[in-house]
Amino acid sequence: MEKMPVLFVGHGSPTNIIEDNPFTEGWQQIAKEIPTPTSILCISAHWYTGGQLVSQAEKPETIYDFYGFPQELYEISYPAPGAPALAQQAAPLFTPPAMLDSIRGLDHGAWSVLHFMYPNADIPVCQLSVNNLLLPQQSYQMGQLLAPLRQQGTLLLGSGNIVHNLGLVNWQLNGGYPWADEFDDYAKQAIVTGQHSKLVNYQQAGASAQKAFVTKDHYDPLLYVLGAAGTTSKVRVFNDARVLGSISMTSYLFED
Ligand code: ZN
Repeated sequence: MEKMPVLFVGHGSPTNIIEDNPFTEGWQQIAKEIPTPTSILCISAHWYTGGQLVSQAEKPETIYDFYGFPQELYEISYPAPGAPALAQQAAPLFTPPAMLDSIRGLDHGAWSVLHFMYPNADIPVCQLSVNNLLLPQQSYQMGQLLAPLRQQGTLLLGSGNIVHNLGLVNWQLNGGYPWADEFDDYAKQAIVTGQHSKLVNYQQAGASAQKAFVTKDHYDPLLYVLGAAGTTSKVRVFNDARVLGSISMTSYLFED
């Protein structure tokens, strides 16, 4: 079987769910350009836990983990089957093994993007949590442990945002603040040249790193993805943009 690429997607605002914009088009397009996965393991910023968990629900519920948005968003569901076999295969890759969670559904970090990538919701999905106890180097190593799953047609999908500072969001702003552009560019240069240590040690970006995020929930999925991708992949950049001042949508496909 063909070795699957690895994907990191900037998911941005939940309002993307009901929009047809360049970002949602980017998600649709990338799904058409990669082999159809047999299963998906999604590492979403919105499952940020004190320990490493993996979801094994057979029929994961759509989780509406966003508040005060248009009603329309709460009426869309993503009824993809769960991937308990994949979850049970992924858990023991870690030491200690990841804990299996039978209840957790799909949060919007996962389904807002999958809704566009695989609208038929026919590919089994499980989620891997972002372990908030880890140092960046350890998150990267977690990703390395996931790499063997690529051999069986599993898509490893990280969903977050490289710049994500909600406290500084400006709903009137189309692009990014200069520091947001600067940090996103720092990350991009490092990613496309395979210099992953610069992403593990993101503070090296300087002042822009101080503002790029307050908590690592939206950044860490990138580190898992980079670990799984390795440094020799061909990197494709898409949805390269900053929005609302302090959010980056920039997304990356890693292919061998
Ligand atoms: Zn988010």
